[in-house]
Amino acid sequence: LFSGRVDFLLSAPQLKFLPEPTVPEIAFCGRSNVGKSSLLNALTGRKSIARASVTPGRTQELNYFEIGMADPNVPDGKSLFRLVDMPGYGFAKAPVKVVERWKKLVRTYLRGRQVLARNLVLVDSRHGLKEVDREMMKMLDEAAVGYRIVLTKTDKIKASELERVANRIADESRKHPAAFPTLHLTSSEKGMGIEALRAAVVEDA
Ligand code: GDP
Repeated sequence: LFSGRVDFLLSAPQLKFLPEPTVPEIAFCGRSNVGKSSLLNALTGRKSIARASVTPGRTQELNYFEIGMADPNVPDGKSLFRLVDMPGYGFAKAPVKVVERWKKLVRTYLRGRQVLARNLVLVDSRHGLKEVDREMMKMLDEAAVGYRIVLTKTDKIKASELERVANRIADESRKHPAAFPTLHLTSSEKGMGIEALRAAVVEDA
């Protein structure tokens, strides 16, 4: 599925630096430390294509990765779609100014990006939905961007606990018009749920 080219394309600190909107995009967002880099690496099968978070609040860019053709007869085929690593949110000590800048960047991107096919909202399975996640879901609803909720680090909690958290989030997400009804349960560390999520992403794109 993703067996073709995977390339880092660019890092856009402002919307004017976004690539030409010629290819479908799947964007990934979540609280800082949710496991976004690890998930991107697991999905693309690259060890460190997405660098793990450095200083919280410092990475305010949209990072683009291109997923290319898997067809061996098309050696350098055009990219099929792009994965967009959105800046993490919800770090406790971020100054108001930084948060405001983040919101403006994200809101404008969500509303104006016609090639945006789907968003993935990552949620740490140990923590469940936090206020910032709800805010993000509201922004997605308002921009009418369909999204999937992806639970991360499921290897870190007991199956019974995971079920409880997943049910609670599923109930809540049903109240959101743009949310998909099914959750994705993943562990980048153990490789759980990765293949299914990869298939969903390809389908969405
Ligand atoms: P990001 O800030 O959202 O990009 O998060 P990272 O991918 O850098 O992950 C944050 C921390 O969680 C790191 O210490 C990872 O090793 C850890 N982590 C990420 N995914 C998993 C997972 O599936 N299982 C476990 N046990 N740890 C994970």
